[in-house]
Amino acid sequence: MIFDYDELGRAIIFFDGDGKICREMHSSEFEAILDGYVPLKEWRNRELRAVFVEMDADYLLHSAIFFRVGFTEKGEIDPNWNLPLDAMTRAASEGPDLGAGPIKLACASQCPIMHYRDYLWDPDLNKNRGPLAALKKTIKTNKLSIQFRDPPEDFKPEKSAPEPQVNSADMERRFAEYTAEMRSQMAQLIKEHRMQDTASANENAEGIKALKVEHANQMEAYRLRLKEKEEELKEAETRNQMMQITIDGQAKKIEGLREYFEHKLEQNEGKEAEELQMLKENYEAEIAAKVEAATTELKQLLQMREVELLYRNERETQLHEEITRLRNEAQELTGNSGNQLLEKMLAKGISFVTYQPGAGHITIPASEISRFMDNPVAYAAQTCGVNEEHYTAWLEHYQAPVCSADLDDGSSCGENIDRISSPADFHIGIGDRCETHRELKGAHLSVVSNKP
Ligand SMILES: [Zn+2]
Repeated sequence: MIFDYDELGRAIIFFDGDGKICREMHSSEFEAILDGYVPLKEWRNRELRAVFVEMDADYLLHSAIFFRVGFTEKGEIDPNWNLPLDAMTRAASEGPDLGAGPIKLACASQCPIMHYRDYLWDPDLNKNRGPLAALKKTIKTNKLSIQFRDPPEDFKPEKSAPEPQVNSADMERRFAEYTAEMRSQMAQLIKEHRMQDTASANENAEGIKALKVEHANQMEAYRLRLKEKEEELKEAETRNQMMQITIDGQAKKIEGLREYFEHKLEQNEGKEAEELQMLKENYEAEIAAKVEAATTELKQLLQMREVELLYRNERETQLHEEITRLRNEAQELTGNSGNQLLEKMLAKGISFVTYQPGAGHITIPASEISRFMDNPVAYAAQTCGVNEEHYTAWLEHYQAPVCSADLDDGSSCGENIDRISSPADFHIGIGDRCETHRELKGAHLSVVSNKP
């Protein structure tokens, strides 16, 4: 934006919540927003702090109005906002000097028109830091490219020359000239403004056109890529179908093989079972036959044995009977012949005498010969007046007169003792013992000669 050399450039500077400058704009741009032509969507439903500034051709600050502005949900400036920035600037009081003399400053605590006080805010007024320092720096940087026309060659800065004396008629003429000049300048400004707007619109249209072309190109590129991808997809689908067919074929083949082997397996199983059954039956039959044969044989053997046994029993009975009969016959014969012989011998004067230890010589009558013959010892014992057992014990002592006491080591004592010549005087446990082993008074008389 271009201003005249003696004009003041205008701009709006916005501060964010942290107190930093977030945006700068020309006053015309702000007016366009204010008129609702260009809504600011990024600021909808927000209230921002801003500063209306004026600067000279040396980019020095001349005035600053610290105001607030709210935005609707469409991004337009609150329609109730109607702060007269020009009027505020004209009425503002003096503030700090930022290089071009004291600036005109309006803020909440220094408000020239009291009923606009709520539209304003209070900055830190230290000129070396805070908003004032930031403003000074931003204006010098001139991001907005605010330009001023060069002054005419004959232009001379104001001097502190003495005011020329002017009369009232002259004053009126000058005022009229000044007004006319102002009007022509204003008309020129408006004209420039419109031209700039047109240029800007053209520029925008060209930009939009370029964007459209770019967009169309991109769309075409995307369309081509899509087509490519679709073809690839189609190809992949075809391939998949082929593979599916192959897989199906192989699956069928495998299924067939599986069935074939299952069938074969079943057949083999059936055969094996049959063979097994046959073998089992054969085996059972064989075993049964063997058992039958063995049983028959054994039965026959048993029968034979039974017959033999029966025969043998019969034979035994017969033999017993025979023996008894023969014995009787023999006894009869012996008795008859013995008695006859003895009677004949006695008649001829022969007598029978025997010698028995303890009993001496005994003459045996013919009637007792048979008894003597049956048991000579018993006969001798009877003759001595003792029983057979007593006699036998005595006879043993008589034949070997030693102590018969049993010792602990299993042997006999064997001590020589006196011989007792008569069985009647002999006492078992006393007569056949030495002094040491003799049992007293016969209290424990025991049978000694019980040996076989
Ligand atoms: Zn003894």
